[in-house]
Amino acid sequence: MSDGATALAVLANARVVTPGGVIENGWVSVADGRIAAVGASDAPSDARTVDLDGAWLLPGFVDLHMHGGGGHDVTASPDAMAGAVAFHRAHGTTSTLISLVTAPVEQLREQVTWAAALTSTTGGVLGAHLEGPFLSHARCGAQNAAHLRLPDRDAFADLLAAAGGTLRSMTIAPELPGALELVADVVAAGTVAALGHSDATYAQARAAIDAGASLCTHLFNGMRPLHHREPGLVGAALESGIACELINDGVHVHPAVTSLLGARPEQLVLVTDAIDAAGVGDGQYLLGGQAVRVQDGQARLASTGSLAGSTLTMAEAVRRAVLDSGLPIEVASAAASGNPARVLGLQDRVGAISPGRTADFAVLDEQLQVRAVMAAGVWQGTSPAAPRDALQTVTNTGLDQ
Ligand SMILES: [Zn+2]
Ligand SMILES: [Zn+2]
Repeated sequence: MSDGATALAVLANARVVTPGGVIENGWVSVADGRIAAVGASDAPSDARTVDLDGAWLLPGFVDLHMHGGGGHDVTASPDAMAGAVAFHRAHGTTSTLISLVTAPVEQLREQVTWAAALTSTTGGVLGAHLEGPFLSHARCGAQNAAHLRLPDRDAFADLLAAAGGTLRSMTIAPELPGALELVADVVAAGTVAALGHSDATYAQARAAIDAGASLCTHLFNGMRPLHHREPGLVGAALESGIACELINDGVHVHPAVTSLLGARPEQLVLVTDAIDAAGVGDGQYLLGGQAVRVQDGQARLASTGSLAGSTLTMAEAVRRAVLDSGLPIEVASAAASGNPARVLGLQDRVGAISPGRTADFAVLDEQLQVRAVMAAGVWQGTSPAAPRDALQTVTNTGLDQ
């Protein structure tokens, strides 16, 4: 067989965004749910071809921070958790963590078991992210202060066991007593220790990074601002080179700040921090049992006015990074896919248009709006061009050849 004969579908005539740059008039062949080959100009002629008509082809997005979407709050029920995942998948997020806001440990234990079940049954669900409860009162933002507590290694061990290997990251305030020991436990468990909702000084943050913390939770939000004499967690995270989440919705950070971070393309990780209101619209919602009002797309606690997550999709975060902040599309794409995949150690599976990776794609039009989404070789909803049957052929061939 020729290479072309094994390629069961080809996405052709696309501007393919790869780790090495943009391939104009590029093509990608898909077989068995994976990327078989990537090329320029002459697409394999003996495969069934979907003409993408010059659209952008990006790797599917990888969101490390997602609380809900499409009217579904991940903490409401297992069905709501699945609904939020499906909402974001339809908008291009083909891999996601499920973020759980601060709550009593018994509730978190139940929610991580829901996330574990969803991880084992649903492609693209990577596991859980615990945002608390070991966070700072001073910088709790929309986390429910009533349930914050000091670092507790036994409580962590309990949650880790309940998650059955699917607890992928945990946000901790490094200045709290016992935080460094907890960071060491988290890292030893193979979970990403993230720093956030923290009033840490530079020295306190740096100590936690030295102890193994490798991610900063929504850089700038929920932490003391960068000051030139006390750079705090912002300064420590940027200087150390750890990955930094950014909620790029034009509200949580100014577009100029996103532009500045483009100078650190390896560190930048776009996240949504989306709540159930994403994709629904303005109105009244609940987050961690607290009333949230969404107005003009901005979600704020009704009680304090504090920002309470976002109504972003990853596609919107990418679009803003390119159009409002001037980042090259390959930098925005890496920040939305390759970099978060690397944070989780999954860069060989997802996050790039490269042979062997899962066939996860977001097809974007000229305005960078989502036109179609493919997850593991399957179009989500309608295909961008007619021959759906060709792609269903791909999905029926099994994954273990
Ligand atoms: Zn937060
Ligand atoms: Zn959050």
